[in-house]
Amino acid sequence: MTASNSNAPKQNCRIVAIDGPAGSGKSTTAKLVAARLGYQYLDTGAMYRALTWHALQNGIAPSDEPTLARIAAELTIDFETHADANRVFLNGIEVTNEIRTPEVTRHVSEVSAHHGVRVAMVEKQKAMGKKGCIVAEGRDTTTVVFPQADLKIYLIAAVDERAKRRLEDLRKLGVSSSIGEQVADLERRDHFDSNRQHSPLTRAKDAFEIDTTSLTIEQQVDRIIGLLS
Ligand code: C5P
Repeated sequence: MTASNSNAPKQNCRIVAIDGPAGSGKSTTAKLVAARLGYQYLDTGAMYRALTWHALQNGIAPSDEPTLARIAAELTIDFETHADANRVFLNGIEVTNEIRTPEVTRHVSEVSAHHGVRVAMVEKQKAMGKKGCIVAEGRDTTTVVFPQADLKIYLIAAVDERAKRRLEDLRKLGVSSSIGEQVADLERRDHFDSNRQHSPLTRAKDAFEIDTTSLTIEQQVDRIIGLLS
């Protein structure tokens, strides 16, 4: 697995881990923090989405843990991070937009709840973070993937604001939806992700909580960079 990022100068190769519910601003914030530091950006959600997309394409049921765990261990996921996009490749095929469809979003929480799937994905994620100099984001990066992270952040935001952000992301992909649909989807996923048996979404004791409801992206990034210095 590989990832690349901007040419900004690297400083002592630290690990920054950012968790939080869907739409809390993790992806945009983590990508910009990584660019400012010249670090790799790791979108762990994209990995679970890529596996889910692969399963749906190949008629594998989201409940089929043994098959999903085997595929998770075998597949290769690569990232190419640019200023304006984080491109995702599964076994060499670009799936950047495919993994953001409502169908993948509907099934990803069930796929990612399987213990065998998580073991395989976490192993790949830990391998990526071995050298440090990484900003990782997801649901368990502060608790399971990088419990030793130098800085842990837990982002939250009001559900209406999160739904607005998701709607805008979908609009850019040409998918139409409504605030009501997005609120329902976010609440369903939050509930599922927070109550699953393995690696549930939870705030690490040593994580700084930042409420992004009324913060601009720039303010979120500044706050995290400020906590690092
Ligand atoms: O971050 P994003 O919304 O793309 O994540 C999609 C889904 O992947 C989440 O709702 C969650 O079910 C799963 N996920 C996870 N662990 C992570 C990242 C994402 O279980 N570290």
